[in-house]
Amino acid sequence: TNKHEIAVIPGDGIGVEVMPEGLRALDAACRKFNIDLTLNHYDFASCDYYLKHGQMMPDNWFDTLVKQDAIFFGAVGMPKLVPDHISLWGSLIQFRKRFDQYVNLRPVKLIPGVPSPLANRKPGDIDFYVVRENTEGEYSNAGGIMFEGTDREFAIQETIMTRVGVDRILKFAFELANKRPKKHLTSATKSNGISITMPYWDKRVENMSKDYPEILVDKFHIDILTAFFVLRPHHFDVVVGSNLFGDILSDLGPACTGTIGIAPSGNINPEGIYPSLFEPVHGSAPDIAGKGIANPIGQIWSAAMMLEHLGHVEASTAIVNAFEKVLAAGPDHAPLTPDMGGKGTTTDFGKVIAEAI
Ligand code: NAD
Ligand code: MN
Repeated sequence: TNKHEIAVIPGDGIGVEVMPEGLRALDAACRKFNIDLTLNHYDFASCDYYLKHGQMMPDNWFDTLVKQDAIFFGAVGMPKLVPDHISLWGSLIQFRKRFDQYVNLRPVKLIPGVPSPLANRKPGDIDFYVVRENTEGEYSNAGGIMFEGTDREFAIQETIMTRVGVDRILKFAFELANKRPKKHLTSATKSNGISITMPYWDKRVENMSKDYPEILVDKFHIDILTAFFVLRPHHFDVVVGSNLFGDILSDLGPACTGTIGIAPSGNINPEGIYPSLFEPVHGSAPDIAGKGIANPIGQIWSAAMMLEHLGHVEASTAIVNAFEKVLAAGPDHAPLTPDMGGKGTTTDFGKVIAEAI
């Protein structure tokens, strides 16, 4: 279908500044490809809302959002006024859990015009996806602190890997690898040290690989895997990891490709039973909020991921091609933001990209 209803939630800090540029790019792409979006704007899932109402979201947030086709999100957090665990658990983490967004998908791609902090890497050398399990694993709430205040005090927190939970994230990763030319899947493990859940993860990988004989599968322990992200980034195509390992890898990956300001992500419910959520990887950046200098590309690229998820591959590609073209032109020809070595503002940069679309 060409008609979609989108929830727009800018959140806090630079989320509010980059969101209009994400929407500008979205609008340009939708005009060009005749896609009809209805945008529903919400001020909740922000610390401003919390300071007014004493909670991050209204009681009916689930019913309000569940009907929509996707959620376009900025960033949340005002750590000076609201503790981060309150703002995050009261918003994003609720979305991920209640909307069963069990895939966290992050493309890692070195783009012409964006210098890599790794020496001698050129565009094409780094182009892979990190697929993170987003609902279980190490991030369970099972456990507690016992004998508190005594010298027998201890803390314990369980890792939970369900067969359904592991298999569905692996299936997503194998299917993604299958669509890419290299057909190469890397699994993050630590089965030498974590002796129950990680060998279980490995066994499920091995089992599923039988269904995909054409995919080359390898696995690395997480410690050496992080080293290889830096030393051999060209080795990777699709990298799948548990909640904790995927979390670590999906910050390290984008860091290898330059500024965090351009990295996008999808929190995806692949079956489409619930809406998926698209957001930049970065947070609300209180240190630069209000200055109008935040890089809008993370938000714009997230818009492209959202369009692809909704079935509009051409429109999605048009957005990616547009910002790649603008970036390749360099700081003398485009109003790049200061994080990329330019002097441009969020709005100037966003406008040039929308025109390129
Ligand atoms: P951050 O991503 O907000 O900022 C880290 C650094 O990167 C800062 O120096 C910032 O100026 C810079 N940066 C980030 N995005 C940029 C952009 N678009 N352009 C230019 N520079 C950019 O991470 P943080 O400082 O650890 O967290 C700040 C707040 O954001 C906290 O409240 C945290 O909980 C929250 N947070 C939210 C999300 C989210 O909404 N998904 C993610 C991470 C952090
Ligand atoms: Mn993280």
